Amino acid sequence: MGTSPPPPGRDPVEEEVDETLLLPPPSSPPLPSSSLEFDRDRHVTYLQMMYHMLPHHYQSQEINRLTLAHFAISGLHILRSLHLVDKDAVVSWVLSLQAHPADDAATHLSTGQFFGFYGSRSSQFPSDNGKVLTHNHSHLASTYCALAILKTVGYSLSNIDSKTMSTSLRNLQQPDGSFLPIHIGAETDLRFVYCAAAICFMLEDWSGMDKEKAKEYICKCQSYDGGFGMVPGSESHGGGTYCAVASLRLMGYLEGDLLLGNVASSIIDVPSLLEWCLQRQASDGGFQGRPNKASDTCYAFWVGAVLRMLGGYKFIDSNALRGFLLTCQSKYGGFSKFPGEFPDIYHSFYGYTAFSLLEEPGLNPFCVELGLTDAAAL
Ligand SMILES: [Zn+2]
Repeated sequence: MGTSPPPPGRDPVEEEVDETLLLPPPSSPPLPSSSLEFDRDRHVTYLQMMYHMLPHHYQSQEINRLTLAHFAISGLHILRSLHLVDKDAVVSWVLSLQAHPADDAATHLSTGQFFGFYGSRSSQFPSDNGKVLTHNHSHLASTYCALAILKTVGYSLSNIDSKTMSTSLRNLQQPDGSFLPIHIGAETDLRFVYCAAAICFMLEDWSGMDKEKAKEYICKCQSYDGGFGMVPGSESHGGGTYCAVASLRLMGYLEGDLLLGNVASSIIDVPSLLEWCLQRQASDGGFQGRPNKASDTCYAFWVGAVLRMLGGYKFIDSNALRGFLLTCQSKYGGFSKFPGEFPDIYHSFYGYTAFSLLEEPGLNPFCVELGLTDAAAL
Protein backbone atom coordinates (compact mmCIF):
# COMPACT_ATOMS: atom_id res chain seq x y z
CA MET A 1 0.00 0.00 0.00
CA GLY A 2 1.09 3.54 -0.55
CA THR A 3 1.94 5.94 2.19
CA SER A 4 -0.35 8.79 1.25
CA PRO A 5 -1.47 10.70 4.31
CA PRO A 6 -5.01 10.21 5.52
CA PRO A 7 -5.88 13.62 6.47
CA PRO A 8 -3.96 16.44 4.82
CA GLY A 9 -4.53 16.80 1.09
CA ARG A 10 -7.77 15.09 0.38
CA ASP A 11 -10.83 14.55 2.41
CA PRO A 12 -11.47 10.83 2.93
CA VAL A 13 -15.07 11.33 3.99
CA GLU A 14 -15.77 12.54 0.48
CA GLU A 15 -13.93 9.74 -1.28
CA GLU A 16 -15.97 7.15 -3.05
CA VAL A 17 -15.83 3.75 -1.50
CA ASP A 18 -17.66 0.47 -1.87
CA GLU A 19 -19.87 1.00 1.13
CA THR A 20 -21.31 -2.48 0.95
CA LEU A 21 -18.02 -3.61 2.40
CA LEU A 22 -18.36 -1.36 5.40
CA LEU A 23 -21.88 -0.80 6.61
CA PRO A 24 -25.11 -2.76 6.32
CA PRO A 25 -27.84 -2.20 3.79
CA PRO A 26 -31.10 -1.55 5.67
CA SER A 27 -32.40 -5.10 5.90
CA SER A 28 -29.34 -7.26 5.60
CA PRO A 29 -29.18 -10.52 7.53
CA PRO A 30 -26.64 -10.77 10.35
CA LEU A 31 -23.09 -11.27 9.22
CA PRO A 32 -21.24 -14.37 10.23
CA SER A 33 -18.02 -13.71 12.10
CA SER A 34 -14.95 -14.41 10.04
CA SER A 35 -13.54 -17.22 12.11
CA LEU A 36 -13.00 -18.49 15.60
CA GLU A 37 -9.62 -16.79 15.71
CA PHE A 38 -8.58 -13.16 15.97
CA ASP A 39 -8.09 -12.31 12.29
CA ARG A 40 -5.19 -9.89 12.54
CA ASP A 41 -4.48 -9.56 8.81
CA ARG A 42 -8.07 -8.60 8.00
CA HIS A 43 -8.05 -6.07 10.83
CA VAL A 44 -4.91 -4.46 9.39
CA THR A 45 -6.63 -4.24 5.98
CA TYR A 46 -9.75 -2.74 7.57
CA LEU A 47 -7.77 -0.03 9.40
CA GLN A 48 -5.71 0.68 6.30
CA MET A 49 -8.95 1.41 4.45
CA MET A 50 -10.09 3.71 7.25
CA TYR A 51 -6.70 5.43 7.26
CA HIS A 52 -6.86 6.18 3.54
CA MET A 53 -10.54 7.00 3.17
CA LEU A 54 -13.53 7.02 5.47
CA PRO A 55 -16.87 6.02 3.95
CA HIS A 56 -19.51 8.74 3.67
CA HIS A 57 -21.38 7.36 6.68
CA TYR A 58 -18.81 9.17 8.80
CA GLN A 59 -19.58 12.52 7.19
CA SER A 60 -21.52 13.74 10.21
CA GLN A 61 -18.43 12.96 12.28
CA GLU A 62 -16.27 15.40 10.31
CA ILE A 63 -15.88 17.55 13.42
CA ASN A 64 -14.32 14.55 15.17
CA ARG A 65 -11.74 13.88 12.48
CA LEU A 66 -8.83 13.79 14.93
CA THR A 67 -10.66 11.21 17.02
CA LEU A 68 -11.30 8.98 13.99
CA ALA A 69 -7.64 9.34 12.98
CA HIS A 70 -6.59 8.34 16.51
CA PHE A 71 -8.63 5.13 16.25
CA ALA A 72 -7.06 4.26 12.88
CA ILE A 73 -3.45 5.14 13.73
CA SER A 74 -3.36 3.89 17.32
CA GLY A 75 -5.27 0.80 16.16
CA LEU A 76 -2.58 0.08 13.58
CA HIS A 77 0.00 0.44 16.34
CA ILE A 78 -1.81 -2.15 18.48
CA LEU A 79 -1.76 -4.44 15.41
CA ARG A 80 2.00 -3.79 15.03
CA SER A 81 1.44 -2.19 11.63
CA LEU A 82 2.44 1.41 12.23
CA HIS A 83 4.83 1.16 9.26
CA LEU A 84 1.74 1.57 7.05
CA VAL A 85 1.36 5.15 8.28
CA ASP A 86 3.16 8.15 6.73
CA LYS A 87 4.34 9.59 10.03
CA ASP A 88 5.63 12.92 8.70
CA ALA A 89 2.36 13.63 6.91
CA VAL A 90 0.38 12.72 9.99
CA VAL A 91 2.48 15.00 12.20
CA SER A 92 2.13 17.99 9.89
CA TRP A 93 -1.64 17.45 9.59
CA VAL A 94 -2.12 17.17 13.36
CA LEU A 95 0.04 20.25 14.05
CA SER A 96 -1.98 22.23 11.49
CA LEU A 97 -5.02 21.78 13.77
CA GLN A 98 -3.40 23.38 16.83
CA ALA A 99 -5.06 26.59 18.01
CA HIS A 100 -2.77 29.55 18.62
CA PRO A 101 -3.63 32.96 20.03
CA ALA A 102 -3.81 35.45 17.16
CA ASP A 103 -1.58 38.10 18.70
CA ASP A 104 -1.59 39.09 22.33
CA ALA A 105 -1.70 35.83 24.25
CA ALA A 106 -2.46 37.48 27.59
CA THR A 107 -5.55 39.20 26.17
CA HIS A 108 -6.79 36.01 24.62
CA LEU A 109 -6.23 34.03 27.80
CA SER A 110 -8.24 36.53 29.80
CA THR A 111 -11.24 35.87 27.52
CA GLY A 112 -11.37 32.34 28.89
CA GLN A 113 -10.44 30.65 25.63
CA PHE A 114 -8.72 27.29 25.45
CA PHE A 115 -5.84 26.83 23.01
CA GLY A 116 -5.69 23.13 22.31
CA PHE A 117 -6.49 21.36 19.01
CA TYR A 118 -9.43 21.77 16.66
CA GLY A 119 -11.22 18.53 15.84
CA SER A 120 -11.03 19.06 12.09
CA ARG A 121 -10.51 21.60 9.33
CA SER A 122 -14.12 22.81 9.38
CA SER A 123 -13.91 23.59 13.09
CA GLN A 124 -11.17 26.09 12.26
CA PHE A 125 -13.61 28.20 10.24
CA PRO A 126 -14.50 31.49 11.90
CA SER A 127 -17.97 31.92 13.36
CA ASP A 128 -20.41 33.44 10.92
CA ASN A 129 -22.81 36.12 11.97
CA GLY A 130 -25.76 33.75 11.91
CA LYS A 131 -24.03 31.59 14.53
CA VAL A 132 -24.49 28.57 12.30
CA LEU A 133 -21.10 27.23 13.22
CA THR A 134 -21.05 26.70 16.94
CA HIS A 135 -18.17 24.26 17.36
CA ASN A 136 -15.34 26.30 15.95
CA HIS A 137 -13.14 26.07 19.02
CA SER A 138 -10.46 23.74 20.18
CA HIS A 139 -11.87 20.89 22.22
CA LEU A 140 -10.49 18.78 25.07
CA ALA A 141 -11.28 15.45 23.37
CA SER A 142 -9.66 16.58 20.10
CA THR A 143 -6.64 17.78 22.05
CA TYR A 144 -6.30 14.42 23.81
CA CYS A 145 -6.50 12.63 20.44
CA ALA A 146 -3.99 15.00 18.81
CA LEU A 147 -1.41 14.39 21.54
CA ALA A 148 -2.15 10.65 21.49
CA ILE A 149 -1.52 10.50 17.72
CA LEU A 150 1.69 12.54 18.02
CA LYS A 151 3.01 10.21 20.72
CA THR A 152 1.99 7.15 18.71
CA VAL A 153 3.97 8.24 15.65
CA GLY A 154 6.95 9.11 17.86
CA TYR A 155 6.80 12.91 17.71
CA SER A 156 8.24 14.53 20.83
CA LEU A 157 5.67 16.74 22.54
CA SER A 158 8.52 18.97 23.74
CA ASN A 159 8.48 20.37 20.18
CA ILE A 160 5.02 21.86 20.44
CA ASP A 161 4.00 25.11 22.09
CA SER A 162 2.38 23.56 25.14
CA LYS A 163 2.67 26.50 27.55
CA THR A 164 -0.37 28.32 26.17
CA MET A 165 -2.25 25.03 26.10
CA SER A 166 -1.56 24.32 29.78
CA THR A 167 -2.26 27.87 30.92
CA SER A 168 -5.53 28.10 29.01
CA LEU A 169 -6.62 24.64 30.20
CA ARG A 170 -7.25 26.28 33.56
CA ASN A 171 -10.01 28.30 31.91
CA LEU A 172 -12.03 25.13 31.42
CA GLN A 173 -11.96 23.86 35.02
CA GLN A 174 -15.12 24.70 36.95
CA PRO A 175 -15.44 25.59 40.64
CA ASP A 176 -16.61 22.03 41.43
CA GLY A 177 -13.44 20.57 39.86
CA SER A 178 -15.06 19.34 36.62
CA PHE A 179 -14.04 20.50 33.12
CA LEU A 180 -15.86 22.06 30.20
CA PRO A 181 -14.80 20.50 26.88
CA ILE A 182 -14.74 23.91 25.11
CA HIS A 183 -14.67 27.37 26.58
CA ILE A 184 -18.04 28.55 25.26
CA GLY A 185 -19.87 26.25 27.64
CA ALA A 186 -21.25 22.75 27.31
CA GLU A 187 -21.87 19.78 29.53
CA THR A 188 -19.28 18.94 32.16
CA ASP A 189 -18.67 15.37 33.21
CA LEU A 190 -15.98 12.78 33.92
CA ARG A 191 -15.08 12.40 30.22
CA PHE A 192 -13.52 15.84 30.17
CA VAL A 193 -11.84 15.43 33.54
CA TYR A 194 -10.17 12.38 32.01
CA CYS A 195 -9.15 14.27 28.85
CA ALA A 196 -7.67 17.06 30.97
CA ALA A 197 -5.77 14.59 33.17
CA ALA A 198 -4.40 12.69 30.16
CA ILE A 199 -3.35 15.96 28.48
CA CYS A 200 -1.51 17.13 31.63
CA PHE A 201 0.13 13.71 31.95
CA MET A 202 1.31 13.64 28.33
CA LEU A 203 2.59 17.24 28.50
CA GLU A 204 4.22 16.49 31.89
CA ASP A 205 2.72 19.74 33.11
CA TRP A 206 -0.09 19.80 35.68
CA SER A 207 -0.31 23.59 35.88
CA GLY A 208 -3.54 23.44 33.85
CA MET A 209 -5.43 21.57 36.54
CA ASP A 210 -6.28 21.97 40.20
CA LYS A 211 -5.73 18.29 40.98
CA GLU A 212 -7.29 18.39 44.45
CA LYS A 213 -10.52 19.85 43.13
CA ALA A 214 -10.62 17.38 40.26
CA LYS A 215 -10.03 14.52 42.70
CA GLU A 216 -12.92 15.69 44.89
CA TYR A 217 -15.21 15.85 41.86
CA ILE A 218 -14.26 12.34 40.76
CA CYS A 219 -14.80 10.87 44.23
CA LYS A 220 -18.28 12.45 44.35
CA CYS A 221 -19.17 10.52 41.18
CA GLN A 222 -18.74 7.12 42.88
CA SER A 223 -22.20 5.67 43.40
CA TYR A 224 -23.57 3.53 46.24
CA ASP A 225 -23.02 0.39 44.12
CA GLY A 226 -19.30 1.02 43.61
CA GLY A 227 -19.32 2.18 39.98
CA PHE A 228 -19.01 5.80 38.87
CA GLY A 229 -21.66 7.91 37.16
CA MET A 230 -20.69 10.55 34.58
CA VAL A 231 -21.70 13.27 37.08
CA PRO A 232 -22.27 13.14 40.85
CA GLY A 233 -25.51 11.33 41.68
CA SER A 234 -26.00 9.66 38.29
CA GLU A 235 -26.21 5.95 37.51
CA SER A 236 -22.95 4.01 37.42
CA HIS A 237 -21.65 3.57 33.90
CA GLY A 238 -18.71 1.65 32.41
CA GLY A 239 -17.34 4.68 30.56
CA GLY A 240 -17.64 6.99 33.56
CA THR A 241 -16.00 4.38 35.76
CA TYR A 242 -13.07 4.11 33.37
CA CYS A 243 -12.66 7.91 33.23
CA ALA A 244 -12.71 8.15 37.04
CA VAL A 245 -10.21 5.40 37.81
CA ALA A 246 -7.86 6.21 34.91
CA SER A 247 -7.84 9.92 35.87
CA LEU A 248 -7.02 9.16 39.51
CA ARG A 249 -4.30 6.83 38.30
CA LEU A 250 -2.74 9.44 35.97
CA MET A 251 -3.01 12.06 38.73
CA GLY A 252 -1.05 9.81 41.09
CA TYR A 253 -3.83 9.15 43.60
CA LEU A 254 -4.08 5.40 42.93
CA GLU A 255 -0.78 3.59 42.81
CA GLY A 256 0.17 -0.01 42.02
CA ASP A 257 -2.08 -3.04 42.31
CA LEU A 258 -4.92 -1.73 44.45
CA LEU A 259 -5.92 -5.18 45.63
CA LEU A 260 -2.44 -5.78 46.99
CA GLY A 261 -2.30 -2.41 48.73
CA ASN A 262 -4.20 -1.19 51.75
CA VAL A 263 -7.70 -1.03 50.27
CA ALA A 264 -9.13 0.61 53.38
CA SER A 265 -6.93 3.68 52.96
CA SER A 266 -7.85 4.21 49.30
CA ILE A 267 -9.71 7.44 48.46
CA ILE A 268 -12.38 5.38 46.67
CA ASP A 269 -14.36 2.30 47.70
CA VAL A 270 -12.28 -0.39 45.96
CA PRO A 271 -14.13 -3.59 47.06
CA SER A 272 -17.52 -2.42 45.83
CA LEU A 273 -15.94 -1.04 42.64
CA LEU A 274 -14.35 -4.44 41.99
CA GLU A 275 -17.66 -6.16 42.62
CA TRP A 276 -19.53 -3.78 40.30
CA CYS A 277 -17.01 -4.30 37.49
CA LEU A 278 -16.98 -8.10 37.77
CA GLN A 279 -20.78 -8.16 37.68
CA ARG A 280 -20.67 -6.42 34.29
CA GLN A 281 -19.50 -9.64 32.59
CA ALA A 282 -22.73 -11.09 31.26
CA SER A 283 -23.74 -14.72 30.66
CA ASP A 284 -22.71 -14.45 26.98
CA GLY A 285 -19.15 -13.63 28.10
CA GLY A 286 -19.19 -9.99 27.00
CA PHE A 287 -19.22 -6.88 29.17
CA GLN A 288 -22.18 -4.52 29.52
CA GLY A 289 -21.88 -0.82 30.37
CA ARG A 290 -24.69 -0.90 32.94
CA PRO A 291 -26.86 -3.57 34.59
CA ASN A 292 -29.57 -5.06 32.36
CA LYS A 293 -27.92 -3.81 29.15
CA ALA A 294 -26.71 -6.01 26.29
CA SER A 295 -23.02 -6.88 26.06
CA ASP A 296 -21.13 -4.49 23.81
CA THR A 297 -17.60 -4.80 22.40
CA CYS A 298 -16.35 -1.47 23.74
CA TYR A 299 -17.09 -2.30 27.40
CA ALA A 300 -14.63 -5.17 27.19
CA PHE A 301 -12.15 -2.30 27.27
CA TRP A 302 -13.88 0.32 29.46
CA VAL A 303 -14.65 -2.15 32.24
CA GLY A 304 -11.73 -4.51 31.51
CA ALA A 305 -9.29 -1.60 31.80
CA VAL A 306 -10.66 -0.69 35.24
CA LEU A 307 -10.23 -4.30 36.34
CA ARG A 308 -6.67 -4.23 35.01
CA MET A 309 -5.94 -1.05 37.02
CA LEU A 310 -7.48 -2.58 40.15
CA GLY A 311 -5.50 -5.79 39.74
CA GLY A 312 -8.74 -7.74 39.27
CA TYR A 313 -8.53 -8.64 35.58
CA LYS A 314 -7.49 -12.18 36.56
CA PHE A 315 -10.96 -12.76 38.00
CA ILE A 316 -12.81 -12.46 34.67
CA ASP A 317 -13.72 -15.42 32.45
CA SER A 318 -11.31 -14.59 29.65
CA ASN A 319 -12.27 -17.51 27.42
CA ALA A 320 -15.91 -16.47 27.54
CA LEU A 321 -14.98 -12.83 26.79
CA ARG A 322 -12.83 -13.94 23.87
CA GLY A 323 -15.73 -16.00 22.55
CA PHE A 324 -18.13 -13.05 22.75
CA LEU A 325 -15.71 -10.66 21.05
CA LEU A 326 -15.19 -13.10 18.18
CA THR A 327 -18.94 -13.06 17.51
CA CYS A 328 -18.53 -9.29 16.95
CA GLN A 329 -15.56 -9.73 14.60
CA SER A 330 -16.51 -8.93 11.01
CA LYS A 331 -15.42 -11.13 8.13
CA TYR A 332 -14.30 -7.88 6.48
CA GLY A 333 -12.08 -7.03 9.46
CA GLY A 334 -13.04 -4.73 12.32
CA PHE A 335 -15.49 -5.23 15.17
CA SER A 336 -19.12 -4.31 15.58
CA LYS A 337 -20.89 -3.14 18.72
CA PHE A 338 -23.13 -6.21 18.90
CA PRO A 339 -22.69 -9.72 17.42
CA GLY A 340 -23.32 -10.13 13.70
CA GLU A 341 -23.48 -6.46 12.74
CA PHE A 342 -21.21 -4.46 10.45
CA PRO A 343 -18.06 -3.00 11.97
CA ASP A 344 -17.34 0.61 12.88
CA ILE A 345 -14.01 2.22 13.63
CA TYR A 346 -14.84 3.00 17.28
CA HIS A 347 -15.79 -0.55 18.23
CA SER A 348 -12.96 -1.92 16.11
CA PHE A 349 -10.40 0.09 18.06
CA TYR A 350 -11.83 -1.04 21.40
CA GLY A 351 -12.00 -4.62 20.13
CA TYR A 352 -8.25 -4.45 19.47
CA THR A 353 -7.58 -2.95 22.90
CA ALA A 354 -9.67 -5.73 24.45
CA PHE A 355 -7.67 -8.41 22.64
CA SER A 356 -4.46 -6.69 23.71
CA LEU A 357 -5.66 -6.95 27.35
CA LEU A 358 -6.35 -10.64 26.67
CA GLU A 359 -2.70 -10.90 25.54
CA GLU A 360 -3.52 -12.03 22.03
CA PRO A 361 -0.23 -12.99 20.28
CA GLY A 362 0.94 -10.47 17.67
CA LEU A 363 -0.54 -7.41 19.40
CA ASN A 364 1.30 -4.64 21.21
CA PRO A 365 0.64 -4.30 24.95
CA PHE A 366 -1.67 -1.43 25.87
CA CYS A 367 -1.31 1.27 28.53
CA VAL A 368 -4.89 1.33 29.80
CA GLU A 369 -4.64 4.56 31.81
CA LEU A 370 -3.50 6.60 28.83
CA GLY A 371 -5.39 4.77 26.07
CA LEU A 372 -2.24 4.19 24.01
CA THR A 373 0.13 1.32 23.39
CA ASP A 374 2.80 0.92 26.05
CA ALA A 375 5.42 1.86 23.47
CA ALA A 376 3.65 5.14 22.61
CA ALA A 377 2.96 5.94 26.26
CA LEU A 378 6.65 5.71 27.10
ZN1 LIG B 1 -20.07 0.33 22.56
